[in-house]
Amino acid sequence: MPGYSGRIRDLNKVLPIIELYPAIQAEGSRAGYPTVIIRTTGCTHRCYFGEVGGWCDSWYSSVHPEKGRFSLNDVFNLYAAYPHIKEMLITGGAPTLHPVLLNELIHFAHESGIFITLETEGSHYLSSDQPVDLVSISPKFSRSIPVLGIKTPLGATVGERMIKQHNQLRLNHAAIARLITDHTDYHIKPVLDETLADLEELETFLEKLNIPDDKVWVMPAGGNRQALLRSYPVVMNYARDRGWRFSPRPHIMAFDARRGV
Ligand code: SF4
Repeated sequence: MPGYSGRIRDLNKVLPIIELYPAIQAEGSRAGYPTVIIRTTGCTHRCYFGEVGGWCDSWYSSVHPEKGRFSLNDVFNLYAAYPHIKEMLITGGAPTLHPVLLNELIHFAHESGIFITLETEGSHYLSSDQPVDLVSISPKFSRSIPVLGIKTPLGATVGERMIKQHNQLRLNHAAIARLITDHTDYHIKPVLDETLADLEELETFLEKLNIPDDKVWVMPAGGNRQALLRSYPVVMNYARDRGWRFSPRPHIMAFDARRGV
């Protein structure tokens, strides 16, 4: 494969990738670019955002992680089918749980002239041969902690173990600080709902890591159109007054809660 000199020799080996599709990038500073979305499976967190926010909107990659379905050849073939796409978005789950896979994707992207964005909740540092072009960090705050005794999307009951694991690596400041310094660029992409209840923790986080305002792309909460529209005006106006960037999540406006868009 031209543009790939990585270390995974069996290019048909199924990797922990559960979604692979072309789309318009909808979040953060690369919004509007046609891109290939690569979603990895598995996450140390199991975020639950309360009765209104509900479970992680990609719970099939975190709370109940599906098995991988795609290989490197599938990635290469998709780029071959869409030769005009020069962007890659790696999301999850928590992609940094798969450093070998990420390293290979970074090699392929850089050797093929593709700009690579890595989304992460910041639980783990990523050491790679080459830096990622853009690390997009979505810190999770205390209101994402699952509630003891409630049911997960597939009907399991939340126990102490799940809560402990969630908290163990949530807001790993040391890992986030190194992701920021060791990769080419970054931005912080927090999610706020219409109550703005996470603001205090968010401001503390930004101050601790010395994040300038122009690196913050705030997003309205909501995994579907109805929920998004509730938080939209409040968060938009807050970004205007606070001096942050606003990331409107147009894929949800266009496709509601559909997967693979
Ligand atoms: S960190 Fe992200 S992928 Fe993981 S459970 Fe929370 S919202 Fe879902």
